[in-house]
Amino acid sequence: MPDQPYHTVIGLEVHVQLLTRTKLFCGCSTQFGLPPNSATCPICTGLPGVLPVMNRAAFDLALKAALALNCQIASFTKWDRKNYFYPDLPKNYQISQYDLPFSHDGWLEIETGEGKKRIGIIRVHLEEDAGKMLHDEQGGGRESLVDLNRTGTPLLEIVSQPDLRSPEQAKAYLEEIRLLLRELEVSDCEMQEGSLRCDANVNIHVLQPDGATAATPIVEVKNLNSFRAVERAIRYEAKRQYDEFQRTGQRMGEVSKATAGWDEDRGVTIIQRRKEEAADYRYFPEPDLVPVRVSAEELAQVRASLGELPAAQRVRLQQDYALTAKDVDVLIQQGRPFVAYFEEVARRAGDAKEANNWVTNEVLRTLNERKLSIKDFPLSAEALAGLIRQRSQTGLNMQRTREVFARMLETGSSAEQAIKELGFEVIADESRLRDLVRKAIAANAKAVADFKKGKLKAADAIKGAVMRETRGMARTELVQQILLDELKNS
Ligand SMILES: [Zn+2]
Repeated sequence: MPDQPYHTVIGLEVHVQLLTRTKLFCGCSTQFGLPPNSATCPICTGLPGVLPVMNRAAFDLALKAALALNCQIASFTKWDRKNYFYPDLPKNYQISQYDLPFSHDGWLEIETGEGKKRIGIIRVHLEEDAGKMLHDEQGGGRESLVDLNRTGTPLLEIVSQPDLRSPEQAKAYLEEIRLLLRELEVSDCEMQEGSLRCDANVNIHVLQPDGATAATPIVEVKNLNSFRAVERAIRYEAKRQYDEFQRTGQRMGEVSKATAGWDEDRGVTIIQRRKEEAADYRYFPEPDLVPVRVSAEELAQVRASLGELPAAQRVRLQQDYALTAKDVDVLIQQGRPFVAYFEEVARRAGDAKEANNWVTNEVLRTLNERKLSIKDFPLSAEALAGLIRQRSQTGLNMQRTREVFARMLETGSSAEQAIKELGFEVIADESRLRDLVRKAIAANAKAVADFKKGKLKAADAIKGAVMRETRGMARTELVQQILLDELKNS
């Protein structure tokens, strides 16, 4: 970054709630928005004497995600207790994975201003979520309540290498994770509902006058819950560290790592405390759960279920349909069923460019207006392809074609029927058009005289008369051609 006297170094810890029906170690529902504490049982509230049992569906989703993130999968993995006290954690420990996570050493490619960049992933592990504190901030109340519905929900933690170099790259990385995990139906990644959360480890490398680089202590900014918050918090924190470095000259090693919160309203990070190290949590192996073994067959099965991932899809769609990177991105962001719909329209219409225009404009607009998914879209791929073919065959103008599209949505007619119903049949019959042109020439003597004197624009008046006569349905290029022909010979 030539305009900045420092480099920002960012590693992200992303927490993603898995889309399972039930929790990680008990049968309670994971549904969002249930009445507080209604989805709880002795296991997830940590009563003595209960035994957790791993939810295999959660583990399979976690495997899917890790494979898609190009991770190595451990054939043997175990659970550990991470001990800490907090009111939303009634057991006083969280079941997590410490020294033997189920996957490690992966990567994810992101798009940056300078091209593609591979971001390393240190590890992906599975753990249970804690509950939620509800602070009474309205009406001057001073109490906090605890909702344990979320306690025990399966959570995937994805820890990146410190490979990200700007707030924009951090956002791109998060967006790519969201796209990937949504496509795989591993998580809905709804940041507003807390199913995708992010902590950012930020520090800066300052170039010294002597050519050496000084690094500031890492600050972990916790609980960023929107893309905008991630970008703003990182930008603010990097600048804050630079200002502090200028003031005090503090370097790595002289100050311990710290944890910070993000104040969205004021747009500032607030340093809270020295960061805990792993040793502070007194991890030890969870005695109530058996370790998990993953066989090669199982792994092959999960791998086969991944289907085409967004990175591969981008390359293929650009190549097969000659679309721009931007076009393809719009398609892919809508998810696999939408891409499949586009591909079918393109194939049936024999025109990918037009199919892309219709699908990403009119179809997408209709879906958004009616809050529908592509699965419930009233027009089949064949119906839309039929409209595209009709337009290319008849030369119907765009305005009229949109009206036909609206009619098809309304009545379920085919493109051909809708064109008839609306009286939009294009007149392309040459002898009929020639008759109309001759009549218009006879009725516009002055325009003809002007044209002969060299005022070529005068021909537009005659053409206009033909278009009026046919309510705009005459094929324009053909009228133009016949008109010039007739004028030359008149
Ligand atoms: Zn439970």
